[in-house]
Amino acid sequence: MKCGLVAADGAVLHRETRPTPREAGGRAVLSALLETVVELAQKAAADGHRVRAVGVVVPGIINAERGTVSAENLAWSDTPVLAELQAAIGLDQQVLLAHDVRAGGYAELRQGALTGTTNSLFLPLGTGIAAAMVVDGKLVSGDGYAGELGHTRFVHGSAAEQCACGQWGCLETIASAAALARRYAVRTGRVVDGAREVIELLAQGDADAAVVWREALAALTDALVMYTTLVAPTRIAIGGGLVGAGETLLAPLREGVHARLTFQREPEIVAAELGEEAGMLGAAWMAWDRVAADESGEETV
Ligand SMILES: [Zn+2]
Repeated sequence: MKCGLVAADGAVLHRETRPTPREAGGRAVLSALLETVVELAQKAAADGHRVRAVGVVVPGIINAERGTVSAENLAWSDTPVLAELQAAIGLDQQVLLAHDVRAGGYAELRQGALTGTTNSLFLPLGTGIAAAMVVDGKLVSGDGYAGELGHTRFVHGSAAEQCACGQWGCLETIASAAALARRYAVRTGRVVDGAREVIELLAQGDADAAVVWREALAALTDALVMYTTLVAPTRIAIGGGLVGAGETLLAPLREGVHARLTFQREPEIVAAELGEEAGMLGAAWMAWDRVAADESGEETV
């Protein structure tokens, strides 16, 4: 997990990365999170700062009303994360719990690739695919359920593979970084070191890499055209591991989307700017916004 201490103006005063003990189960993951929050608060105090709020962002489905989280890859099922956090750090401090991809999108909106937009999309292509949607100036959360573009069907017929969500042919099964590596390995019998290696093979002219890449691009183009038609973003920022491919990814996406639009407003398609730090920064921005909403003016850490 990535964590840090962030001042009200967005300056990162301290950053660190800690292991997430997934293999030890959901309780261990939650304990590690609570320990991290408590120790960071202690560090802040030792450095002479006052912690005003704690922002925690997690994957999965967040029930904002109850403060519970269900996340398959953390072995959490309706886990009372907010109540546990509040108990660990004390009731006098604000705790904000949000979705990691939406937080990343919020950071891109505040200080990254989506700055100045009121209708835009942050789409990280990593292990999975989820979207942070900015519509009419607001980040859409849909009570915690919105933005699951990765679980919309873009592959049909016998080519559709079953997704972790149980459905078939989801965007995530063909266009996530994890899918590229898996599909290359299935096709060639050769295990690769993630999407990064598939991108390297593509650059070397590997024919199988070219096929899985082309299929991913086709599904992504469909997804971006659908999103553009529905919500009319002016800018789309692509993030996650796949954007490491740079223009190899972005140029054909731009061309593909351009070719398919007729009456729709054409979005700019760019690389996200904040990389792996987006979620942490978004957590901090959201927490500071909560402080500002509660009490205006003061600028301390
Ligand atoms: Zn799915």
